[in-house]
Amino acid sequence: MNLVPRGARILLHACCGPCSLMPVRHLRGEGLDVTAYFFNPNIHPADEYERRRVAMRQVGEMLDLPVLFEPQSSLPGASAVDVAAWVGALEMEVPRCLAGYESDREGEMTRLFPAQAGERASSEQREGGKPDVLREGVRCVWCYRVRMEASARLAKARGFAAFSSSLLYSRYQHHELIVAEAERAARLFKVPFFYRDFRTYWQQGIDYSRELGIYRQKWCGCILSRTEAEARKKQREERRAALRAARRAEHEANAARKRGRAGI
Ligand code: SF4
Repeated sequence: MNLVPRGARILLHACCGPCSLMPVRHLRGEGLDVTAYFFNPNIHPADEYERRRVAMRQVGEMLDLPVLFEPQSSLPGASAVDVAAWVGALEMEVPRCLAGYESDREGEMTRLFPAQAGERASSEQREGGKPDVLREGVRCVWCYRVRMEASARLAKARGFAAFSSSLLYSRYQHHELIVAEAERAARLFKVPFFYRDFRTYWQQGIDYSRELGIYRQKWCGCILSRTEAEARKKQREERRAALRAARRAEHEANAARKRGRAGI
């Protein structure tokens, strides 16, 4: 349990509007003075980034919540969403993050990364091959690192008592990895990380965002997650179509049998 006095100012890294609703409500419930920080260079493409930025601004207005926005960028310091640069940076930075986990603490790799993905990525790296760094769950390490470091740095620079993240609300994110990266950033910038498991509010948050009419995105953020989400959707549609075709065939076969019995 983190110890931050009631009334203290806390910086909440906001991954998007809908995911921020319940963390803000919870932190305010603990008597904290919340400021949100929208910094998500992982959101692709540019029109999607804009949609989520607008949704975050609406949440700020609706909740009377101060929101700090980083200029639109795909990489820290870049001026516009640049998908290729982001993917290139993942390929370069993720192996470094993995190597750090391997050398830092034994057992962290298997605890924090999906077993096969992490093991394969690190062993390929050891053997000088190309690690599978773009795999979901592995690539996310750097995506979290960039955002947690920026949040910790800002919290320290602006004198906040601690920082936290709305990423801790999502059931789809890699919770333990977010915590590990936030704790690392806290050590690096010497500012407390305020941990709460906001996932307990999952359904409440969905209902609340629908009630407010906030835009809810269909994929995590990066272009890779969008491609994967689209592929999953296509598979679901194909499965449903196959099921419908099988039912239709069964119905027609039954009808033909009945006609046969009736001698029609
Ligand atoms: S899937 Fe989500 S958390 Fe992982 S790299 Fe893409 S945007 Fe970041």
